[in-house]
Amino acid sequence: MTLDIVDIAHPRAYPPRISAFTQPFWQGLTEGRWQSTRCTACARLTFPPKPVCPHCWSQDMQWDSLPDEGELYAWTRVHAPPAVFVDEAPYYLGIIDLDGGLRIAVRLLDPASGGYRPGVRMRVVALRYVDGPLFAARAA
Ligand SMILES: [Zn+2]
Repeated sequence: MTLDIVDIAHPRAYPPRISAFTQPFWQGLTEGRWQSTRCTACARLTFPPKPVCPHCWSQDMQWDSLPDEGELYAWTRVHAPPAVFVDEAPYYLGIIDLDGGLRIAVRLLDPASGGYRPGVRMRVVALRYVDGPLFAARAA
């Protein structure tokens, strides 16, 4: 299963630094794949991708699909952003508890009328900017 892809007609305001280790994440995201690392010793997922398990310190990690839906834990609307994001304000940020237990911080797409509320079901989407991918979430 792949993420919905939303086209954004401008470059990213603050492109991520992509390392050799995180390159598979960003390449996958370009194709709508939502993945991170899973520890083969204790089987726990981590996000963002990590070369060492933060739970048991194993270095035996492998790529695995992430749950792409979850529940909105909290959100905010940013009106006074860092200078680099001024052109995108106001915008929404949220914390989502993905199904299966991971809690992630993520940009939220503008809500439909009525706005966001904690507990709303959310789905991760891939954002296809003209210079590369990012991700966000919106109501499922
Ligand atoms: Zn582990």
